[in-house]
Amino acid sequence: MKKLLLFLTLFPAVVFGQNHEENIRKIYDAELSSGHTYENLRYLTKRIGNRLAGSSGAAAAVEWTRQLMENYGFDTVYLQPVMVPHWDRGGKDVVKIVNSTKHGTLELSALALGNTEGTGPSGLVGNVIEVKSIAELRELGDKVKGKIVFFNGPMDPKKIDAFEAYGEANPQRSSGAAEASKLGAIATLVRSLSNRIDDYPHTGNQRYNPDFPKIPALAISTEDAELLSSLLSDQSDLKVYMESYGQMKTEKLSYNVIGEIRGSEIPKEIIAVGGHLDSWDVGEGAHDDGSGCMQAIEVLRLYKELGWKPKRTIRAVMWMNEENGLRGGQEYARVAKEKGEKHIAAIESDSGGFLPIGFSSTGTESQREKLKSWGDLFKPYQVWNLDRPGGGADIGPLRDQGPILIGLKPDSQKYFIYHHTEADVFEAVDQRELELGAAAMAALVYLIEQEGI
Ligand SMILES: [Zn+2]
Repeated sequence: MKKLLLFLTLFPAVVFGQNHEENIRKIYDAELSSGHTYENLRYLTKRIGNRLAGSSGAAAAVEWTRQLMENYGFDTVYLQPVMVPHWDRGGKDVVKIVNSTKHGTLELSALALGNTEGTGPSGLVGNVIEVKSIAELRELGDKVKGKIVFFNGPMDPKKIDAFEAYGEANPQRSSGAAEASKLGAIATLVRSLSNRIDDYPHTGNQRYNPDFPKIPALAISTEDAELLSSLLSDQSDLKVYMESYGQMKTEKLSYNVIGEIRGSEIPKEIIAVGGHLDSWDVGEGAHDDGSGCMQAIEVLRLYKELGWKPKRTIRAVMWMNEENGLRGGQEYARVAKEKGEKHIAAIESDSGGFLPIGFSSTGTESQREKLKSWGDLFKPYQVWNLDRPGGGADIGPLRDQGPILIGLKPDSQKYFIYHHTEADVFEAVDQRELELGAAAMAALVYLIEQEGI
């Protein structure tokens, strides 16, 4: 009884307001005056740090988020086992121009791409041939044989949504090595996927073609890509030395971390909201995607703080291994299907902890119309764009089970400065922008659990 009284004092039975406007106002007020999102992100990034799948950082993040959600008193908190690939960088990545008539030897800022095989300590040396795209590579045919292919396609600055420019330039990173290997290239260098010229190399996922040799593939900073390109135009026999130690190790057991508040009226209908807990092995994975994870936990925490009981079940999900395998998202969908769970919506925040401007979605016309019908409720919070198609990588595998898939859409202009680099640290995230994102997600979850979709 004492416990119950204490509970009631901690969580007074504040009831829902009269209408959606009032309740959304309560969500924003609570988040912007006493939210936990930012301090939780500080812990994840500063105390745990980066969290590549299979690493000790990822294991620590699993345990910490589990405890955090238990401490918040969510109804159910559990770990969902999933086997993940374990890639290890293995050592310092080196890229050097070795015979520049202008500069002699010159070291470039480089990072091996994820899932790549390294050169080992002996390294490799080769002539460099520059292309702007995979199409251009194919035109060269066997001219690239025995050479290092340098993919130097910039992100298109004319695209207003930076994710579009990223998507367009991404194939050179994700499948450039596989394509170059088919033609007999010995390695690839790729211009970092960033819309700024600076000295940060950006890592990221790449996939080999199993029928061809797994050649080393490293990213160089945009500044060094510009430099290499200009030196090549003056000196076509330029040689580059590359050294890296990447290695795919045996798979490891890891987990999706799940916290749930059961619906009071229609508990069978589930609304999942989440981000991916893993990150690359550089920086602190603050924007990508510590922000999304902390926002998702905050959505449920706000329900506890406000003393609200959702009509439908709401679930915070930290997916594991989005970056170099997507195993967590796939396993989550597989288990949901096996258990016969009914997801009505899945919401993902994996575009950085920046100022939210809308939600993108994939679903039936009636689902998307329902989402758009809430536009006026979001307008006071300057979340205005509910019309864009999209969703998210981790929720994608749920598609055939019928929920609407929704992505939080923050302002995209600065995301690719930080993405997959040493610069993606806690200090790069703005508290207010992060909290506005958490509040926008909570407001959307509230509308869906109340009205269905
Ligand atoms: Zn991400």
